[in-house]
Formats: sequence, C-alpha cells, structure tokens
Amino acid sequence: MAKQQFKAESKRLLEMMINSIYTQREIFLRELISNASDAIDKIYYRALTDDKLVFNKDDYFIKITVDKDSRTLTITDTGIGMTKEELENNLGVIAKSGSLAFKNDNEAKDGYNIIGQFGVGFYSAFMVADDVTVISRALSSDEAYKWESTGADGYTIEPCEKDSVGTEIILKIKQNTEDDTYEEYLEEYRLKSIIKKYSDFIRYPIKMDVTEHRPQEGSEGEFEEYKEEQTVNSMVPIWRKNKSELTPEDYENFYMEKRYGFDKPVSHIHIKADGAVVYNAILYIPEKTPFDYYTKEYEKGLELYSNGVLIMNKCADLLPDYFSFVKGMVDSEDLSLNISREMLQHDRQLKLIAKNIQSKIKSQLQTLLKDEREKYEQFYASFSRQLKFGVYNDYGMNKDVLQDLLLFTSSKEKKLVTLDEYVSRMPEDQKYIYYAAGESVERLEKLPQTELVADKGYEILYLTDDIDEFAIKIIMNYKDKEFKSVSSGDLGIEADASDVDTKAEEDNKELFTAMKELLSGKVKDVKASKRLKSHPVCLTTEGEISIEMEKVLNAMPS
Ligand code: ADP
Ligand code: MG
Repeated sequence: MAKQQFKAESKRLLEMMINSIYTQREIFLRELISNASDAIDKIYYRALTDDKLVFNKDDYFIKITVDKDSRTLTITDTGIGMTKEELENNLGVIAKSGSLAFKNDNEAKDGYNIIGQFGVGFYSAFMVADDVTVISRALSSDEAYKWESTGADGYTIEPCEKDSVGTEIILKIKQNTEDDTYEEYLEEYRLKSIIKKYSDFIRYPIKMDVTEHRPQEGSEGEFEEYKEEQTVNSMVPIWRKNKSELTPEDYENFYMEKRYGFDKPVSHIHIKADGAVVYNAILYIPEKTPFDYYTKEYEKGLELYSNGVLIMNKCADLLPDYFSFVKGMVDSEDLSLNISREMLQHDRQLKLIAKNIQSKIKSQLQTLLKDEREKYEQFYASFSRQLKFGVYNDYGMNKDVLQDLLLFTSSKEKKLVTLDEYVSRMPEDQKYIYYAAGESVERLEKLPQTELVADKGYEILYLTDDIDEFAIKIIMNYKDKEFKSVSSGDLGIEADASDVDTKAEEDNKELFTAMKELLSGKVKDVKASKRLKSHPVCLTTEGEISIEMEKVLNAMPS
C-alpha cells in the first residue's frame, strides 16, 4: 500500500510550537541577537583557517534600529550572511539549524561558542511580528536576497540590493489587540533592558540609536532631542576575566548591578572550573536576609548562562536548601539545553556543577570563619537558622557538611564558639559536650541545672534558638563526644553516682508524699537531689525529648 504523507496546517503548527516552547515573548530578541552573534562567530572561525580573510574585530557589530512610524524593529549584523540556498534551507525549513551543521562540520576546532543548535529560535520573531523580512548577502557571494514571510503561510525569496556582507532582519511589530499590546517592542528603553537582561555578554557590540536630550541653542531652558549611537551590552563578562584583574569593588558592583541584594555581601567566590565540567561562576554570601527569606515566597537559585546568554533566572537545582542564601551566577559551555533554552536536557552536568559549587561554598564559609570571624558572625546572625534546619532536615544527611559551620554561645567564653573549639579545650575527665536549652543566655545562666556542670569547670553551650536542640540531637556526637543536656537525669559526672539523696527522702517522707500527690499528672516523680547548690528545686527529664523541645513541638501546628 502506498504510504500517505501527514498533512498539517502549518500556520497553526508554527503558532502552537512557538507558543508552547517559549514562556516569555521578550526572548525573541535574545534569539535574533544570538543568531547575529553566531553569524559573526562564523566569520571569525573561517578567518582562523583562511589566510585571505582578515578578522578585524572593529568591523563586526550588531545593530538594533526602531522606527515607530512604520512599526519596524530591525536587527542588523555584519556576520557571514546567507546565500539564496541557505535562506531557503535555514529559514524555510523549521527545525533546521545551519549553526549546528557548522559546528559539526568544523568539529576539530575547540572553543566554539556558537549558540544555535535547534533551528527554531528564528521563528520566535513571529510572536511579536506579523511580517518578517530578511535581507542577506553571504560572504561567499556578490548577490543579495530578500526573504519575506507572514508566518507559516510560506515565504518568498527574490534578489535585492545590499552593499555589504551580513544580514538585516526587519520585524513588522504586531498591532495591539484587545488582550495584547506589542508597543513595548518599539520602546528604546524596553529594548535596552531586554538586551541587558539576556544578551549583555554577547562578545560583539550591540549598538542602538538612543534618544538623548540636550539644551537647545539660543533658547533658554528648552531641550532638543537627538539620537546617539550607544553600545548597550557590556560584552566581556566579569566572570571570564582573570581574578587578578578584578578588585573587591568590581565584585561588589556586579552584585549591585545584578540586584542580587541590597546589602553588601560578606564574601564572594569566583570559580573557574576546568575539570570534569567546565564552568565559570561568581557566588556571593550575603550579609543580610532578604525580607522574604524565611517565608515560602523566597525562591532560591543561581542565574544560569550558557555561553554568556542567560538561560534561567533562578536555577534552583544548583543550590542545596541549606545554602539557599547564596546569590550569583554560573556560566557553562557544557550544558545540553532543551529546545526553548529555558531548561536543561540532561542534568548530569548540572549535578556535577552543583556538587562542585556546594563544596566551594562550604570551604569559603570555613575560611571566613577561620580568618574573618567578625564577618562570619555577621553572616551567621542572618542565616544560622538555615544552616541548622539543614542539619535537621533530610534525616541528618548533611550534618557532616554543616556541623563545623555552627556556632553556639559558650558559658565560659561568653561568646559564640564552634563545636571544634569546645571539644579542643575539654578537660580530660569530661565525657560529654554539655548544653542547656532555653529562651535566653541570661535565663540559662540562672538555671539550677547548669550550676553543677559549671562548678566542675566544664563549659556549657547555651542553645537559645528553637531549632538548636533539634540540630544537636541529629548531630548526636561530635569528634566521638556525645551531647548531654544539663537537665538530663544522668549527667555523667563522678559525684553523680549517688545523685539521689535517699537519706533526705527517708527523713522527710511525709513532705515527699504530699508533694507527689500535689503534682501528680504534672511530674513523674519527686526526688531529693545532691545536684543542687544554691537553688531549692529543679526539673529534670528522662528520655530523649527535653522540656524545651516539648515546648517547640507543642507550638507547632499539627
Ligand atoms: P538555530 O540558531 O538554533 O540554528 P534559528 O532558527 O535561530 O536556529 O536559525 C536557523 C538558522 O538560520 C541558523 O542555524 C543559521 O544557519 C541561520 N541564520 C539565522 N539568522 C542568521 C543570521 N543573522 N545570519 C546568518 N545566518 C542566520
Ligand atoms: Mg538561533
């Protein structure tokens, strides 16, 4: 039987495809600029092997022009251009990528930065334009051609005039409808901000005629408009520069420009990884919590770039929850992107990067703790809860990463100490790491239970945050020393052996019976203790849940 070909309503198919691939309309400009940059790259790569071709960087640029009257937006490049055949093959066939073919044909050379690979980006222009004209003259030809289409109804190609090699893409921006406006794609300011957002690090200048004002000659206080050509993108991304070229201010400025936060970061990490996975990253450890940090509105994540083009604003997979406060960006050439370039195809590389980043953050925090204690404590005041939640969550899987980053107030030092500092000065006869949990250091100091331990000359960690004791319970032991609450029944102190004063109980039998009756249902037992020094009574607990933990658990919504 003869096979029938599928038929499709191509206009509808194109619309469906474009609208299902891209979540945001504004990315059409990213796609067209990326194509222009690829076209210039291709000349550059040709010149590497062709002696007759000289690549003079100043001759290559991308230009954006707007004309409100004719509702046109034009993207011009001085790239390699397209022949008539290439116009037909690359723009006439959906999902055909001339750029991918170029990369494959030139496989031997490394360092390719060409962005295109799917052969659909160009059609995103139809999200904002109802008519697209492409005028192109290829490097290899003296003739120029004009390609025109109003969507998937088809296209026309005819010869035309063009003085220089390169491509001009003219978009006739759609008319506003009841539901949609397209005006913004004719506004200089808006276009500039889209370019900044997605294409700031395209390696060739993206020029635009920007309207400026100047005092009018001859008339006081009057201003006249004039157009000035400006380069909108900053081209060389800071993360590709050498660390030695950059000052602390450069990093701070980048943090501010990117609006990662309104504070001053306490520290930054500049990574240039060249191993199993190649990527550059700049990460920041903020000083202050964003206003929504401890709410469910807060979204963690790093900006993700592929070859200098922004792919994702907040890639959550790059950060573990316990480091969700980290801000910054990652750029990699090794990512396999999905067709919309909004998501990643395989997450193997991403997982490698994430793992790498996590250990860099940890060691940076440890260095900060060691060398710049004051700064670390500033950071800790803002984000300690997140670190402790991190210890507690995931069944303590991350305690090894995090336990050395924790600080607690010491009864001896009257300041924050690490577990390591505590253990390193433990007297030989001390078996446990002692802690007391409660509302405030002042109250904990007055607790009768702390007295005996303190009297022995042992240090006590004061846990004043709700989550503290939960985290400590998960850590269980540190450097082979177990944690022990000062209010637990058995303190593991020598004198303890006969902690209960049976003689006192015998002598005051009636009093004890009366107390037990009076407090029945509230306490399990009443005993005479040798533990008390200057206080008449104290409460102790048996088992794993302390009084403080019970309070927290009771306060939690069930
Ligand atoms: P991709 O960039 O993923 O290959 P596009 O749909 O964006 O897909 O573009 C299709 C092809 O059209 C490109 O691969 C390239 O060969 C060609 N092309 C698009 N724009 C230009 C341009 N400005 N200059 C030269 N060739 C271009
Ligand atoms: Mg493209």
